[in-house]
Amino acid sequence: MGTDVSKPSQLMSLLQAAGFRFKKQLGQNFLVDAHALQRILAAANVSAADGAFEIGPGAGVVTQRLAQQARRVLCVEKDTTLAPVLANALAGFDNVQVRMADVLELDWHELWQAFADCREVVVVANLPYYVTTPILLHMLESGVRFQRAVLMVQREVAERLQAPPASKAYGALSVAVQYRAEVDWLGRVPPGAFIPPPKVESALVRLRVRPQPAVQVEDERLFFRVVRAAFGQRRKTLRNALTGLGLDKQATQQVLAEAAIDPERRGETLSLSEFAGLAAALVAHLAYTGAKR
Ligand code: SAM
Repeated sequence: MGTDVSKPSQLMSLLQAAGFRFKKQLGQNFLVDAHALQRILAAANVSAADGAFEIGPGAGVVTQRLAQQARRVLCVEKDTTLAPVLANALAGFDNVQVRMADVLELDWHELWQAFADCREVVVVANLPYYVTTPILLHMLESGVRFQRAVLMVQREVAERLQAPPASKAYGALSVAVQYRAEVDWLGRVPPGAFIPPPKVESALVRLRVRPQPAVQVEDERLFFRVVRAAFGQRRKTLRNALTGLGLDKQATQQVLAEAAIDPERRGETLSLSEFAGLAAALVAHLAYTGAKR
């Protein structure tokens, strides 16, 4: 067995022996809090039949525990200087694969072949905060099979993920996530739970992937274009914001009337089903006028 990296003193000795230096630009804040670790594992609820995909294992503090519970663990770490640290921490586990790479540059469908014999797949990540949104969107849009994701994110991001319409935190990311998943707020985590402590507060959330998206949408690309246009011009009325879709004023009026949405409303007040209704009205309008989607 390798070093028990859930013990801060052992973790620090291992990092020191490997000559490791924390890289701020990679969002490296390693977890050193037993209570937070326990909360992550409880929320992930990985059984011996399941696979776990971990983004950014760092020194392997979560990975070690996942390896004890899961059928298979696959993790992707960008910082190659952590390779010897992970090799030590994960010595003795034959169910763990480590890939040293940028998780956004890999083909997730190819990665997922590792989980062919797993009952459920759970994504677990103490995310590097500089790249949270691209990773979240990549995860949700990749189309790979997973049942839930337990994520440590900046508190503001956690608030955006679960924000209801018309609230300050509601935005395109809220819609993208809530369209595909139900979001559980699992609580705040203070900076002192990490080494080095981040400048911001963190929060733990769980996404439970819906069997079907929250609303029925004929053309997802168009749906998300509508969402981006609506939020792209915050505080503008929809009458003005939707011109970003290339519609003239009259067409915008028609589409909004068709969707029964007041043109004086602002994009950030629309619910998921209203966005879906708006996208459907736009599809119908484009089909009628013969314009390209
Ligand atoms: N999981 C570890 C823990 O909880 O102690 C480390 C978490 S730390 C917040 C984020 C980790 O993600 C770092 O190890 C960092 O090197 C890694 N990372 C940053 N950008 C990445 C990327 N694009 N792809 C994969 N890993 C990345």
